[in-house]
Amino acid sequence: MSLLQIRGSEIYESSLERLSRIESRGEKLLEFYFFKVILLRDMKIIEKYAKSLYTKTKIPSLDYTVNQYVGCEHGCVYCYAKFINRWKNYGEWGSWVEVKKNAPILAKKYVRGKVSMSTVSDPYQPIEEKLKLTRSVLENMDKDTDLSILTKSDLITRDIDIFRQFKNIEAGFTLNGFSEEMRKILEPGAPPHKNRISALKLLRDNHIRTYCFISPVLPLLTDVKKVISDTEGLVDYYIVEFINVSLAGMKFKNILEKLFPETYRIIRNKKNMLDFIETTKSYLIENNVPVSNLITHRDKRVSP
Ligand code: SF4
Repeated sequence: MSLLQIRGSEIYESSLERLSRIESRGEKLLEFYFFKVILLRDMKIIEKYAKSLYTKTKIPSLDYTVNQYVGCEHGCVYCYAKFINRWKNYGEWGSWVEVKKNAPILAKKYVRGKVSMSTVSDPYQPIEEKLKLTRSVLENMDKDTDLSILTKSDLITRDIDIFRQFKNIEAGFTLNGFSEEMRKILEPGAPPHKNRISALKLLRDNHIRTYCFISPVLPLLTDVKKVISDTEGLVDYYIVEFINVSLAGMKFKNILEKLFPETYRIIRNKKNMLDFIETTKSYLIENNVPVSNLITHRDKRVSP
């Protein structure tokens, strides 16, 4: 895999590994013995065959994670899943997506316990519209699976017909109330806030259990009150997560420092950040917001 090097829009591959090259309609396709790379516009799509799909996890209250994609076109600059780049030499986070071609077959295995889709990608990122891989995985899953899906995309509503076949399923939306101007900086590939709210409403109208993941909570940038107000009556519960700057990485830190210095100043000062957390917590408690988990990254999870 490390024999593949990608620089800008050019691709260099080992002649030993190369099988064929097809170029048409702006797409480039490179086939290798074990994987295939497709250049779709500026996005690298890497097709692979996985050994398994359900991964045991130590994430509290979950038993398994499912990631039919690895990597994410939404390219959120704060994304914690960027750590994957240490093992994947495909380029900057947000510029590549690994596709597990055989995920639908692997999905047939039944696992007991809570399954989360997805943790290192978004199951409804733009490529899903074309590949329908998430849809195939859902079609093949045992409908007794205790499944929780998290996304930022209204594409999720396409699969409501399959959700209704599951006995125990919930759909979550990550919301932060960013203005469009800010979303384009922090979550450049993700759909706008209003699309996510409309999708939640449609899920709710179809009697799908829903939740809202307010994350990352950033001082002066994340509009918690707007999210609570816009999702009133649309979700069963909330998970609230304050930013973890270490996990978000250096690039994010630099963006904050340069474009949002006031936010950066609060985050960098322990006392100011703790005050901000306490103020937000008080607001949630005073307004009886049903928060199942409040993640501060400063102590263990606590329920307000
Ligand atoms: S949608 Fe989720 S997985 Fe995708 S880049 Fe954003 S935070 Fe990361």
